[in-house]
Amino acid sequence: MSVAYLGLGANLGDARQTLKDAVVCLAQQRTITVLAKSSLYRTAPVDAGGDDYFNCVVKIETSLPARQLLRLCHTVEEQFGRERPYRNAPRTLDLDILLYGDSSIDEADLIVPHPRLTERAFVLVPLVELDGELIIPQRGRADAFLGAVRDQRIEKVATCQCPMLAAQREDESSAPPTASNKPLCR
Ligand code: ADP
Ligand code: MG
Repeated sequence: MSVAYLGLGANLGDARQTLKDAVVCLAQQRTITVLAKSSLYRTAPVDAGGDDYFNCVVKIETSLPARQLLRLCHTVEEQFGRERPYRNAPRTLDLDILLYGDSSIDEADLIVPHPRLTERAFVLVPLVELDGELIIPQRGRADAFLGAVRDQRIEKVATCQCPMLAAQREDESSAPPTASNKPLCR
């Protein structure tokens, strides 16, 4: 089993609903357990025109090797109507592998950690939300890159509404987090 982080983004159609549905779709895969989900964020397009994006990040445990995980990501994108008319085109769903364990992969069609991970607030902010001490292989702490993306517009639009987790959040505000009360998602 490997732990991985996936970045989800969408800015075509009902993008906000698509992201929620895509997380459910991932959770329904036999080969994936969703361990945590970040808040939902609204972000400005980077290097592209079009509408604002909705973004989130999920932490998963998976039995799939990285390449098969990428294939699954592409299959899920297609199920949500993804088309690639040109580079950085608006999209119904984008699913990227941000991190795969502590692996470094540099192949023609798969680069991990994701090459633009540290340059984009829309992945860096939700990643750091999920793990404030996250280490990016060969680059160091993720939060060290936040300053470099502070000019990119990003706004939190929703936290996870699971009632059990809301109760955990209340507990947390009165007690410091421990292994047993650590929230699955925020
Ligand atoms: P974007 O770079 O905007 O996400 P696409 O989703 O169209 O654009 O991805 C373009 C290509 O990036 C894919 O065909 C895929 O093979 C490649 N790629 C390389 N590394 C990764 C990664 N870590 N996660 C997802 N796709 C990747
Ligand atoms: Mg992609």
